[in-house]
Amino acid sequence: MKFNEKLKDIKTYEAGKPIELVVREFGIEPKDIVKLASNENPYGCSPKVQKAVSDIVVNMALYPDDSMLKLKNALQNRFEIKEENLIIGSGSDQVIEFLMHAKANSNSKILINSVTFAMYEIYAKHVGAEIIRTQAQEHDLDEFYELYKAQKPDIIFLCTPNNPTGDAINAADMFDFISKIDNDTLVVVDGAYMEYAAFKESAKKVQPKDLIEKFENVIYLGTFSKAYGLGGMRVGYGISSSKIIKELYKLRPPFNITTLSLEAASVAVEDEEFVNNCIADCFDEMKRYEEFAKSEKIDIIESYTNFVTLCLNNNHKSSKIADNLLKRGMIVRDLSGYGMNALRVTVGTKEQNSRFFELMKELI
Ligand SMILES: *Cc1c(COP(=O)(O)O)cnc(C)c1O
Repeated sequence: MKFNEKLKDIKTYEAGKPIELVVREFGIEPKDIVKLASNENPYGCSPKVQKAVSDIVVNMALYPDDSMLKLKNALQNRFEIKEENLIIGSGSDQVIEFLMHAKANSNSKILINSVTFAMYEIYAKHVGAEIIRTQAQEHDLDEFYELYKAQKPDIIFLCTPNNPTGDAINAADMFDFISKIDNDTLVVVDGAYMEYAAFKESAKKVQPKDLIEKFENVIYLGTFSKAYGLGGMRVGYGISSSKIIKELYKLRPPFNITTLSLEAASVAVEDEEFVNNCIADCFDEMKRYEEFAKSEKIDIIESYTNFVTLCLNNNHKSSKIADNLLKRGMIVRDLSGYGMNALRVTVGTKEQNSRFFELMKELI
């Protein structure tokens, strides 16, 4: 059977290995498996969300509320924006898919950072667009601007803080950069980890409201999968000018968020205290990674997220270390596929992190 030619060039996205797979492959008990591979919140979600999800009486026969009124209201209040500036996706991944189809085709160019979130490239390939990458490992906005002038991309992705390196762009620098970009280029600001960066350093905090007040050609992306501890619920959002949102709506399938997910996300938005406590704990635990890296002479990139990137020296191959960790029930992310000899490790609970240090000391 012949398939769409574009698929030839696409590698299937490799998600962090699920616990279930490690149980099956290595016969390890689920309780002995630690997953620090997908940057989920190790403390889970707010107890208020747990309660709301258990209490809600879902009529499973009926489609969800496609107006998403409750969740939209919660997000409108949180970000001080209007409904016309908001679209909800099944994860922010789905919003990336919408915007790619809305803006790009096989004549388009997409400008991204040298190492960044893999889904930008995958969705670009869906529409046959060309990917242009910077050279610098961390976002260098001067380099972005040079490439922008030379290549005139249709879409620019800024991932701040960046996955998988953890670095973040100063908000003021980003605003300067965007003000030099022509209105016909869509600038995507992916803030999947923005809650962490904003907590750590106010200069990194990007307010979607400020972005869309200033620029008509920008979309800000957020997600409930990371700081909010709702990775299993698949809810993300895009905030942009009404003109852009209107176009994205044409691509949204109806009922793209389940009734349970809508309830969970709506309640999660209201419990900011829970999220802030988790973030504070995360950065406390991150200090232990910095100490570990120092004592083991491993380079660590300063992180504005809930994960750390450990750059190994030439004596150790990250793919091998990741495999050996996996056999011991520790799931982390090997970054060799990104051209880095590095491991990306989600900062877990105290016990999970201790286990990681213990196993790493055995292996290196
Ligand atoms: C996790 C992540 C997302 C999307 O997550 P969803 O679960 O699809 O909402 C988007 N961008 C980056 C950089 C991420 O790390």
